[in-house]
Amino acid sequence: MPARLGQHFLKRGSILAKIAAAACPSREPLVIEIGAGRGALTGELLGRSERLVAIEADKALAEHLRERFPGAENLTVIHADVLSVDLAQWGPAVVAGNLPYYITSPILRQTLELGALLKRAVFLVQKEVAQRLTAGPGSRDYGLLTVITQLRADVQVLFTVPPAAFSPRPKVESAVVVLTPKPEQSGPMLSEPGFVEFLGLCFRQKRKTLRNNLKGVYELRLLDRLAAAGRRAEQQSIGELFALYQQLKAAKS
Ligand code: SAM
Repeated sequence: MPARLGQHFLKRGSILAKIAAAACPSREPLVIEIGAGRGALTGELLGRSERLVAIEADKALAEHLRERFPGAENLTVIHADVLSVDLAQWGPAVVAGNLPYYITSPILRQTLELGALLKRAVFLVQKEVAQRLTAGPGSRDYGLLTVITQLRADVQVLFTVPPAAFSPRPKVESAVVVLTPKPEQSGPMLSEPGFVEFLGLCFRQKRKTLRNNLKGVYELRLLDRLAAAGRRAEQQSIGELFALYQQLKAAKS
């Protein structure tokens, strides 16, 4: 089968066990698995959680999951597109999954939006995405996905996974990442409602200066007074972007 719905199934048991152990170092009250597929990771997570909610978009696979774990009272299988599911409905959760790569970014955003309800997230993603998630300012991989993720979570790359660990083999290397949410009270950036939108504006066109990306929203004479506006977002740390946001906000009000 071609990579329909990003269907590359993990077949190496040692890797599945390591992902489950990272998601649930001890028994967890609630785990949400995204893209449960044929249940390879589901089986590992079941033994480590009081309740497991497995979300799968492919109807045949969702049915297969129900049949594969017939007596598992702690398993709820949901046949749905994960992006249409309210992940907050079950309360505080660990989120895990070997993600369908074609929607990695929206899934990351959706997961991080859980805020205080997210205990931790452990995802298998494209290695290139893992590099973007951990990049620092000035590097080629640093962009909007980086800052939006690092704003809310500390990111750690646990290990890489070769294409041979999957069936069918993907064309790219993969990596397991752990996202540990920052406490909600850890800084003013997290509680500033307009900041994520501001970050979106800053990275609108990566090669342009902040001045050029922001000029439709803020007055040019204001932007021209600020040295940071002459730089590109990709060269700025999140703290520096937040300082610029605060200066512009103060000048506007
Ligand atoms: N967890 C399995 C494993 O490790 O072998 C399968 C992982 S496979 C990379 C991704 C899975 O996500 C597939 O089973 C696919 O059908 C499912 N999927 C794709 N798009 C989805 C979506 N929008 N919502 C939920 N599941 C989705």
